[in-house]
Amino acid sequence: AFSSVPLAPPDIIFHLTAQYKADKDPKKVNVGVGAFRTDKLQPYVLPVVKKADAILFNDESLDHEYQPIAGQPSYTKAAARLILGKDSPAIKENRVAAVQTISGTGANHTGAAFLAQFYKKSRTVYISNPTWANHRNIFSMVGFEVKEYPYWNPTTRGLDYSGLIKAMEQAPDGGIFILHACAHNPTGVDPTRDQWKGIADVMQKKNHFPFFDCAYQGFASGDLDSDAWAVRYFVDRGFELFVAQSFAKNFGLYGERAGNLTIVTKSTGETNTVFSQIEKLQRAEISNPPAYGARIVDIVLNDPVLYAEWKENLKYMSNRIIEMRKALYGRLIELKTPGKWNHITDQIGMFSFTGLNKNQVTVLKQKYHIYMTDNGRISMAGLSTTNVNYFATALDDVVRT
Ligand code: PMP
Repeated sequence: AFSSVPLAPPDIIFHLTAQYKADKDPKKVNVGVGAFRTDKLQPYVLPVVKKADAILFNDESLDHEYQPIAGQPSYTKAAARLILGKDSPAIKENRVAAVQTISGTGANHTGAAFLAQFYKKSRTVYISNPTWANHRNIFSMVGFEVKEYPYWNPTTRGLDYSGLIKAMEQAPDGGIFILHACAHNPTGVDPTRDQWKGIADVMQKKNHFPFFDCAYQGFASGDLDSDAWAVRYFVDRGFELFVAQSFAKNFGLYGERAGNLTIVTKSTGETNTVFSQIEKLQRAEISNPPAYGARIVDIVLNDPVLYAEWKENLKYMSNRIIEMRKALYGRLIELKTPGKWNHITDQIGMFSFTGLNKNQVTVLKQKYHIYMTDNGRISMAGLSTTNVNYFATALDDVVRT
Protein backbone atom coordinates (compact mmCIF):
# COMPACT_ATOMS: atom_id res chain seq x y z
CA ALA A 1 0.00 0.00 0.00
CA PHE A 2 2.86 2.39 0.67
CA SER A 3 5.48 1.56 -1.95
CA SER A 4 4.99 4.91 -3.69
CA VAL A 5 5.38 7.05 -0.55
CA PRO A 6 8.42 9.31 -1.03
CA LEU A 7 10.79 9.88 1.88
CA ALA A 8 10.15 13.27 3.50
CA PRO A 9 13.23 15.30 4.44
CA PRO A 10 13.98 15.52 8.19
CA ASP A 11 12.87 18.70 9.96
CA ILE A 12 15.80 21.09 9.77
CA ILE A 13 15.76 22.35 13.36
CA PHE A 14 15.22 18.99 15.03
CA HIS A 15 17.83 17.41 12.75
CA LEU A 16 20.31 20.12 13.77
CA THR A 17 19.66 19.40 17.46
CA ALA A 18 20.34 15.71 16.85
CA GLN A 19 23.66 16.56 15.18
CA TYR A 20 24.58 18.81 18.10
CA LYS A 21 23.76 16.11 20.64
CA ALA A 22 25.92 13.59 18.77
CA ASP A 23 28.92 15.98 18.76
CA LYS A 24 31.40 15.00 21.49
CA ASP A 25 33.45 18.21 21.47
CA PRO A 26 33.21 20.01 24.86
CA LYS A 27 33.34 23.43 23.15
CA LYS A 28 30.20 22.75 21.10
CA VAL A 29 27.56 25.48 20.91
CA ASN A 30 23.90 25.11 19.98
CA VAL A 31 22.42 28.32 18.61
CA GLY A 32 19.92 26.43 16.48
CA VAL A 33 16.83 25.70 18.49
CA GLY A 34 14.59 28.51 19.72
CA ALA A 35 14.22 27.60 23.38
CA PHE A 36 15.33 29.75 26.29
CA ARG A 37 18.39 28.63 28.24
CA THR A 38 19.85 29.99 31.47
CA ASP A 39 23.39 31.35 31.55
CA LYS A 40 24.42 27.79 32.46
CA LEU A 41 22.70 26.77 29.20
CA GLN A 42 20.09 24.76 31.03
CA PRO A 43 16.35 24.66 30.33
CA TYR A 44 14.47 27.12 32.54
CA VAL A 45 11.38 26.33 34.56
CA LEU A 46 9.90 29.72 35.44
CA PRO A 47 9.63 30.15 39.24
CA VAL A 48 6.03 31.30 38.80
CA VAL A 49 5.27 28.08 36.91
CA LYS A 50 6.69 26.09 39.83
CA LYS A 51 4.32 27.95 42.15
CA ALA A 52 1.33 27.27 39.92
CA ASP A 53 2.46 23.65 39.78
CA ALA A 54 2.37 23.43 43.57
CA ILE A 55 -1.14 24.92 43.61
CA LEU A 56 -2.29 22.31 41.09
CA PHE A 57 -0.62 19.51 43.02
CA ASN A 58 -2.41 20.44 46.22
CA ASP A 59 -5.80 21.10 44.67
CA GLU A 60 -7.95 18.16 45.77
CA SER A 61 -10.82 19.27 43.52
CA LEU A 62 -8.88 18.63 40.31
CA ASP A 63 -9.28 15.45 38.32
CA HIS A 64 -8.44 14.12 34.87
CA GLU A 65 -11.83 14.56 33.26
CA TYR A 66 -12.15 15.90 29.71
CA GLN A 67 -11.77 19.64 29.27
CA PRO A 68 -14.47 21.52 27.32
CA ILE A 69 -13.94 21.22 23.55
CA ALA A 70 -12.79 24.85 23.26
CA GLY A 71 -10.85 24.76 26.53
CA GLN A 72 -11.77 26.27 29.89
CA PRO A 73 -13.38 29.70 29.40
CA SER A 74 -11.31 31.12 32.30
CA TYR A 75 -8.19 30.24 30.28
CA THR A 76 -9.31 31.31 26.81
CA LYS A 77 -10.75 34.57 28.14
CA ALA A 78 -7.54 35.37 29.99
CA ALA A 79 -5.49 34.57 26.90
CA ALA A 80 -7.65 36.85 24.73
CA ARG A 81 -7.41 39.61 27.35
CA LEU A 82 -3.64 39.23 27.46
CA ILE A 83 -3.21 39.91 23.76
CA LEU A 84 -6.07 42.35 23.16
CA GLY A 85 -5.75 44.31 26.40
CA LYS A 86 -8.34 44.43 29.17
CA ASP A 87 -9.91 47.60 27.78
CA SER A 88 -10.15 46.28 24.25
CA PRO A 89 -13.22 47.60 22.42
CA ALA A 90 -13.63 44.15 20.84
CA ILE A 91 -13.89 42.51 24.28
CA LYS A 92 -16.28 45.16 25.58
CA GLU A 93 -18.50 44.73 22.51
CA ASN A 94 -18.51 40.90 22.75
CA ARG A 95 -16.80 40.46 19.41
CA VAL A 96 -14.10 38.03 20.56
CA ALA A 97 -14.09 34.25 20.29
CA ALA A 98 -11.25 32.20 21.73
CA VAL A 99 -10.34 28.53 21.67
CA GLN A 100 -7.54 26.61 23.35
CA THR A 101 -5.21 25.05 20.80
CA ILE A 102 -2.21 22.73 20.69
CA SER A 103 0.26 25.55 21.35
CA GLY A 104 1.02 28.14 18.68
CA THR A 105 1.30 25.53 15.94
CA GLY A 106 -2.22 24.33 16.69
CA ALA A 107 -3.50 27.91 16.80
CA ASN A 108 -2.06 28.55 13.35
CA HIS A 109 -3.48 25.27 12.11
CA THR A 110 -6.97 25.71 13.57
CA GLY A 111 -7.14 29.22 12.13
CA ALA A 112 -5.90 27.93 8.78
CA ALA A 113 -8.39 25.04 8.70
CA PHE A 114 -11.27 27.38 9.55
CA LEU A 115 -10.26 29.89 6.87
CA ALA A 116 -9.81 27.13 4.29
CA GLN A 117 -13.42 26.14 4.87
CA PHE A 118 -15.09 29.51 5.33
CA TYR A 119 -13.01 32.37 3.97
CA LYS A 120 -14.41 32.94 0.52
CA LYS A 121 -12.49 36.00 -0.67
CA SER A 122 -9.19 34.34 -1.42
CA ARG A 123 -7.39 31.02 -1.72
CA THR A 124 -4.00 32.62 -1.20
CA VAL A 125 -2.06 33.07 2.00
CA TYR A 126 0.91 35.44 2.05
CA ILE A 127 3.81 34.73 4.38
CA SER A 128 6.90 36.85 4.93
CA ASN A 129 10.19 35.98 3.22
CA PRO A 130 11.70 34.56 5.36
CA THR A 131 9.39 33.23 8.05
CA TRP A 132 8.99 30.45 10.62
CA ALA A 133 9.44 27.31 8.51
CA ASN A 134 6.14 25.80 9.62
CA HIS A 135 3.92 28.55 8.19
CA ARG A 136 4.22 27.20 4.66
CA ASN A 137 3.53 23.63 5.81
CA ILE A 138 0.52 24.57 7.89
CA PHE A 139 -1.22 26.75 5.34
CA SER A 140 -0.45 24.62 2.29
CA MET A 141 -1.60 21.44 4.04
CA VAL A 142 -5.13 22.82 4.41
CA GLY A 143 -5.20 23.66 0.70
CA PHE A 144 -4.10 27.28 0.45
CA GLU A 145 -1.77 28.53 -2.22
CA VAL A 146 1.12 30.05 -0.24
CA LYS A 147 3.02 33.06 -1.60
CA GLU A 148 5.77 35.13 -0.03
CA TYR A 149 5.91 38.87 0.52
CA PRO A 150 9.28 40.64 0.83
CA TYR A 151 10.38 41.25 4.41
CA TRP A 152 14.13 41.10 4.89
CA ASN A 153 16.52 43.46 3.18
CA PRO A 154 19.96 41.79 3.24
CA THR A 155 21.76 45.04 2.44
CA THR A 156 20.40 47.04 5.37
CA ARG A 157 19.89 43.92 7.48
CA GLY A 158 16.52 45.41 8.30
CA LEU A 159 12.94 45.48 7.07
CA ASP A 160 12.21 45.75 3.35
CA TYR A 161 9.31 48.07 4.08
CA SER A 162 8.77 49.34 0.55
CA GLY A 163 8.88 45.79 -0.84
CA LEU A 164 6.33 44.67 1.71
CA ILE A 165 3.96 47.56 0.99
CA LYS A 166 4.29 47.05 -2.75
CA ALA A 167 3.45 43.34 -2.42
CA MET A 168 0.35 44.19 -0.40
CA GLU A 169 -0.69 46.78 -2.99
CA GLN A 170 -0.22 44.31 -5.84
CA ALA A 171 -1.91 41.30 -4.23
CA PRO A 172 -5.54 40.77 -5.33
CA ASP A 173 -8.03 42.18 -2.78
CA GLY A 174 -8.91 40.10 0.25
CA GLY A 175 -5.65 38.18 0.58
CA ILE A 176 -4.75 36.57 3.89
CA PHE A 177 -1.51 37.97 5.32
CA ILE A 178 0.36 36.22 8.10
CA LEU A 179 2.00 38.88 10.28
CA HIS A 180 4.34 38.26 13.21
CA ALA A 181 2.88 40.23 16.12
CA CYS A 182 6.36 40.87 17.58
CA ALA A 183 9.89 39.46 17.53
CA HIS A 184 9.75 38.25 13.94
CA ASN A 185 11.15 34.75 13.50
CA PRO A 186 13.78 34.36 12.07
CA THR A 187 14.94 37.94 11.46
CA GLY A 188 14.35 39.64 14.83
CA VAL A 189 13.21 42.69 12.85
CA ASP A 190 9.76 44.20 13.46
CA PRO A 191 8.06 47.10 11.70
CA THR A 192 8.13 50.37 13.64
CA ARG A 193 4.81 51.77 14.86
CA ASP A 194 4.72 54.17 11.92
CA GLN A 195 5.35 51.28 9.56
CA TRP A 196 2.54 49.26 11.17
CA LYS A 197 0.28 52.25 10.46
CA GLY A 198 1.33 52.12 6.82
CA ILE A 199 0.70 48.38 6.72
CA ALA A 200 -2.76 48.84 8.26
CA ASP A 201 -3.55 51.57 5.69
CA VAL A 202 -2.80 49.40 2.70
CA MET A 203 -4.43 46.32 4.21
CA GLN A 204 -7.59 48.28 4.89
CA LYS A 205 -7.60 49.73 1.40
CA LYS A 206 -7.10 46.29 -0.15
CA ASN A 207 -9.47 44.51 2.21
CA HIS A 208 -6.70 42.06 3.20
CA PHE A 209 -7.21 39.82 6.22
CA PRO A 210 -4.60 40.03 9.02
CA PHE A 211 -3.67 36.74 10.67
CA PHE A 212 -1.25 37.54 13.49
CA ASP A 213 1.11 34.92 14.81
CA CYS A 214 2.17 35.78 18.35
CA ALA A 215 4.71 33.35 19.78
CA TYR A 216 6.80 35.81 21.80
CA GLN A 217 4.56 38.20 23.75
CA GLY A 218 6.60 39.54 26.67
CA PHE A 219 9.74 37.98 25.31
CA ALA A 220 10.57 40.64 22.76
CA SER A 221 10.72 43.74 24.91
CA GLY A 222 10.00 42.25 28.33
CA ASP A 223 6.76 44.23 28.24
CA LEU A 224 3.54 42.34 27.51
CA ASP A 225 1.67 45.44 26.37
CA SER A 226 4.19 46.87 23.97
CA ASP A 227 4.66 43.44 22.38
CA ALA A 228 0.90 43.39 21.77
CA TRP A 229 0.82 46.90 20.34
CA ALA A 230 0.43 45.95 16.66
CA VAL A 231 -2.47 43.57 17.28
CA ARG A 232 -4.27 46.12 19.48
CA TYR A 233 -3.68 48.84 16.92
CA PHE A 234 -5.30 46.72 14.20
CA VAL A 235 -8.29 46.05 16.46
CA ASP A 236 -8.61 49.79 17.16
CA ARG A 237 -8.57 50.41 13.44
CA GLY A 238 -11.63 48.17 13.09
CA PHE A 239 -10.03 45.09 11.52
CA GLU A 240 -11.43 41.62 11.93
CA LEU A 241 -8.48 39.36 12.66
CA PHE A 242 -7.06 36.11 14.00
CA VAL A 243 -4.26 35.86 16.54
CA ALA A 244 -2.42 32.58 17.12
CA GLN A 245 -0.94 32.66 20.63
CA SER A 246 1.71 30.36 22.04
CA PHE A 247 2.66 30.02 25.70
CA ALA A 248 5.67 27.88 24.81
CA LYS A 249 8.27 30.66 25.11
CA ASN A 250 6.77 33.20 27.50
CA PHE A 251 5.79 30.52 30.04
CA GLY A 252 8.53 28.04 29.14
CA LEU A 253 5.79 25.47 28.58
CA TYR A 254 7.19 24.16 25.28
CA GLY A 255 6.22 20.51 25.66
CA GLU A 256 2.88 21.16 27.33
CA ARG A 257 1.37 22.62 24.16
CA ALA A 258 -0.64 25.47 25.65
CA GLY A 259 -1.91 27.83 22.98
CA ASN A 260 -4.90 29.87 22.03
CA LEU A 261 -6.61 31.18 18.92
CA THR A 262 -8.19 34.58 19.50
CA ILE A 263 -10.67 35.74 16.89
CA VAL A 264 -12.04 39.25 16.50
CA THR A 265 -15.07 39.70 14.23
CA LYS A 266 -17.34 42.64 13.52
CA SER A 267 -20.38 41.55 15.55
CA THR A 268 -21.47 39.33 18.43
CA GLY A 269 -23.62 37.35 16.01
CA GLU A 270 -20.65 36.54 13.77
CA THR A 271 -18.50 35.76 16.78
CA ASN A 272 -21.04 33.18 17.90
CA THR A 273 -21.35 31.46 14.52
CA VAL A 274 -17.57 31.45 13.99
CA PHE A 275 -17.07 29.99 17.46
CA SER A 276 -19.63 27.24 16.80
CA GLN A 277 -17.73 26.19 13.67
CA ILE A 278 -14.36 26.33 15.41
CA GLU A 279 -15.75 24.06 18.14
CA LYS A 280 -16.98 21.63 15.50
CA LEU A 281 -13.59 21.65 13.80
CA GLN A 282 -11.79 21.14 17.10
CA ARG A 283 -14.07 18.22 17.96
CA ALA A 284 -13.05 16.43 14.76
CA GLU A 285 -9.36 17.18 15.16
CA ILE A 286 -8.50 16.80 18.85
CA SER A 287 -11.85 16.49 20.65
CA ASN A 288 -10.55 18.13 23.83
CA PRO A 289 -7.43 20.17 24.46
CA PRO A 290 -4.77 19.06 26.97
CA ALA A 291 -5.32 20.28 30.53
CA TYR A 292 -2.00 20.64 32.29
CA GLY A 293 -0.23 23.54 30.56
CA ALA A 294 -3.45 25.50 30.19
CA ARG A 295 -4.16 25.12 33.93
CA ILE A 296 -0.78 26.64 34.74
CA VAL A 297 -1.40 29.60 32.44
CA ASP A 298 -4.96 29.97 33.74
CA ILE A 299 -3.77 30.17 37.37
CA VAL A 300 -1.06 32.73 36.63
CA LEU A 301 -3.09 34.98 34.34
CA ASN A 302 -6.01 35.09 36.79
CA ASP A 303 -4.05 35.83 39.98
CA PRO A 304 -2.69 39.38 40.35
CA VAL A 305 0.24 38.35 42.56
CA LEU A 306 1.36 35.50 40.33
CA TYR A 307 0.80 37.65 37.26
CA ALA A 308 3.18 40.26 38.65
CA GLU A 309 5.72 37.55 39.37
CA TRP A 310 5.37 36.21 35.83
CA LYS A 311 6.25 39.65 34.49
CA GLU A 312 9.46 39.55 36.56
CA ASN A 313 10.31 36.11 35.19
CA LEU A 314 9.74 37.46 31.67
CA LYS A 315 12.07 40.36 32.37
CA TYR A 316 14.77 37.98 33.52
CA MET A 317 14.51 36.04 30.24
CA SER A 318 14.37 39.03 27.94
CA ASN A 319 17.18 40.78 29.83
CA ARG A 320 19.47 37.79 29.56
CA ILE A 321 18.92 37.79 25.82
CA ILE A 322 19.60 41.52 25.58
CA GLU A 323 22.79 41.05 27.64
CA MET A 324 23.97 38.38 25.21
CA ARG A 325 23.31 40.67 22.27
CA LYS A 326 25.44 43.37 23.90
CA ALA A 327 28.19 40.91 24.81
CA LEU A 328 28.40 39.48 21.30
CA TYR A 329 28.31 42.89 19.67
CA GLY A 330 30.92 44.26 22.10
CA ARG A 331 33.30 41.39 21.46
CA LEU A 332 32.98 41.69 17.65
CA ILE A 333 33.83 45.39 17.95
CA GLU A 334 36.88 44.57 20.10
CA LEU A 335 38.00 42.01 17.54
CA LYS A 336 37.46 44.56 14.76
CA THR A 337 35.51 41.93 12.87
CA PRO A 338 34.98 43.20 9.31
CA GLY A 339 31.44 44.41 8.59
CA LYS A 340 28.68 46.21 10.49
CA TRP A 341 27.18 44.36 13.43
CA ASN A 342 24.72 46.81 14.96
CA HIS A 343 21.84 44.61 13.75
CA ILE A 344 22.78 42.17 16.54
CA THR A 345 21.73 44.67 19.18
CA ASP A 346 18.97 46.27 17.07
CA GLN A 347 17.09 43.02 16.43
CA ILE A 348 14.72 41.80 19.12
CA GLY A 349 13.35 38.56 20.51
CA MET A 350 14.95 35.17 20.64
CA PHE A 351 16.84 35.35 17.37
CA SER A 352 19.42 37.27 15.46
CA PHE A 353 19.74 37.04 11.71
CA THR A 354 23.51 37.39 11.50
CA GLY A 355 23.93 37.71 7.75
CA LEU A 356 26.36 34.75 7.70
CA ASN A 357 26.07 32.71 4.52
CA LYS A 358 25.57 28.97 4.15
CA ASN A 359 29.25 28.37 3.55
CA GLN A 360 30.24 30.23 6.72
CA VAL A 361 27.60 28.32 8.65
CA THR A 362 29.14 25.03 7.45
CA VAL A 363 32.63 26.10 8.48
CA LEU A 364 31.36 27.11 11.92
CA LYS A 365 29.88 23.65 12.33
CA GLN A 366 32.85 21.68 11.03
CA LYS A 367 35.69 23.70 12.48
CA TYR A 368 34.13 25.14 15.64
CA HIS A 369 31.27 22.75 16.55
CA ILE A 370 28.81 25.65 16.41
CA TYR A 371 25.34 24.66 15.22
CA MET A 372 22.93 27.09 13.53
CA THR A 373 20.44 26.98 10.67
CA ASP A 374 21.80 27.48 7.14
CA ASN A 375 20.18 30.91 6.87
CA GLY A 376 22.56 32.27 9.53
CA ARG A 377 19.93 32.64 12.24
CA ILE A 378 21.18 32.28 15.79
CA SER A 379 19.19 31.78 18.95
CA MET A 380 20.62 34.27 21.44
CA ALA A 381 19.63 31.92 24.27
CA GLY A 382 22.29 29.47 23.09
CA LEU A 383 24.97 31.99 24.10
CA SER A 384 26.21 32.47 27.66
CA THR A 385 28.83 34.49 29.51
CA THR A 386 30.98 31.35 29.19
CA ASN A 387 30.75 30.71 25.45
CA VAL A 388 30.09 34.14 23.92
CA ASN A 389 33.78 34.96 23.44
CA TYR A 390 34.42 31.60 21.80
CA PHE A 391 31.44 32.20 19.53
CA ALA A 392 32.59 35.73 18.61
CA THR A 393 36.13 34.54 17.87
CA ALA A 394 34.82 31.78 15.61
CA LEU A 395 32.50 34.21 13.83
CA ASP A 396 35.40 36.63 13.38
CA ASP A 397 37.46 33.86 11.80
CA VAL A 398 34.83 32.76 9.29
CA VAL A 399 34.09 36.32 8.27
CA ARG A 400 37.78 36.96 7.54
CA THR A 401 38.46 33.79 5.54
N1 PMP B 1 5.02 30.86 15.37
C1 PMP B 1 6.28 31.25 15.41
C2 PMP B 1 6.69 32.44 14.61
C3 PMP B 1 7.21 30.54 16.19
O1 PMP B 1 8.48 30.96 16.21
C4 PMP B 1 6.79 29.44 16.94
C5 PMP B 1 7.74 28.69 17.81
N2 PMP B 1 8.91 28.31 17.22
C6 PMP B 1 5.43 29.09 16.86
C7 PMP B 1 4.59 29.82 16.08
C8 PMP B 1 4.76 27.97 17.61
O2 PMP B 1 5.41 27.17 18.44
P1 PMP B 1 4.63 26.23 19.42
O3 PMP B 1 3.72 25.37 18.60
O4 PMP B 1 5.70 25.47 20.10
O5 PMP B 1 3.86 27.11 20.35
